[in-house]
Amino acid sequence: MQINRIVDLSRPVGPETQAFPGDREPSLERSATVAVEGYNSTGVHMSSHSGTHADAPYHFLDDGPRLEELSLGQFTGAAVVVEATGRADRSPITAEDLAPWRERFAPGAAVLLHTGWADHYGTSRYFDHPYLAGDAARLLVEAGVRCVGIDAPSPDSTPHGPHPEGDWAAHMSVLGAGGTIVENLCGLERIDFADPLFVALPIRLSSGDGAPVRAVAMGFG
Ligand SMILES: [Zn+2]
Repeated sequence: MQINRIVDLSRPVGPETQAFPGDREPSLERSATVAVEGYNSTGVHMSSHSGTHADAPYHFLDDGPRLEELSLGQFTGAAVVVEATGRADRSPITAEDLAPWRERFAPGAAVLLHTGWADHYGTSRYFDHPYLAGDAARLLVEAGVRCVGIDAPSPDSTPHGPHPEGDWAAHMSVLGAGGTIVENLCGLERIDFADPLFVALPIRLSSGDGAPVRAVAMGFG
C-alpha cells in the first residue's frame, strides 16, 4: 500500500493558537538551548483542548471513557466530508441538511463537517460558527458513526459574548455513545481525492478528557 496524498488538517499550537472562551492559551518556553546545554528543549503549557484536538466521552461525562480507554480506531475512519459552507452565523446543521450523505454514515466512518468557518479563525466571529443540531447528531450516532469532526471550535454553539450557554446536544449525543469529536480542523477543502482516510490520533495523555491531535486525510488512489 502506498500513501499518495496526505493533507494536514491541523492548527499550529503556540501563543498564536486561538483558545476557546475561558480556556488557557498555550505558551512555549525555551528550557534548554544549544548554546548552554548543548540541545534545544521547550516547556509546553496548554489545555487538553488547545488547537486541533479530540474530545473523549470523559470531557462531558464523569463516568465516560477517558482517552486511554478508547480504541485508536475511534480516531480514524473513512472520511465523509459534509459540505455545509455558506451558512449564516450560528445556524444549525439539521438532519435534513445531512440527507445527501446519509448512505455513507456507517460504523467506521469519520464524518467531517466542512462549514468554511476555519476562514474566521483568529477572530471573534470564529465562535459564531454553525453548529450540529441535536437531531442531526442523533442521526449520525444512530447510523453507527463514532467520530465527528468540524472546522470550528465546537459542534455545539459556543457561549460567547451575548450568546448564552447552549444545550451541548451534539457533544452529549456523540460522547454519550462512546464516540469522539475532533475540533478546530482546517483545510477540509483540500480533501479532493477519492476514499480519504481520516486519522487524528491524540497524545496518550493520562486520564485524558481530550488531547491535541495531528489530524490528516490520507489518499491511497
Ligand atoms: Zn474539546
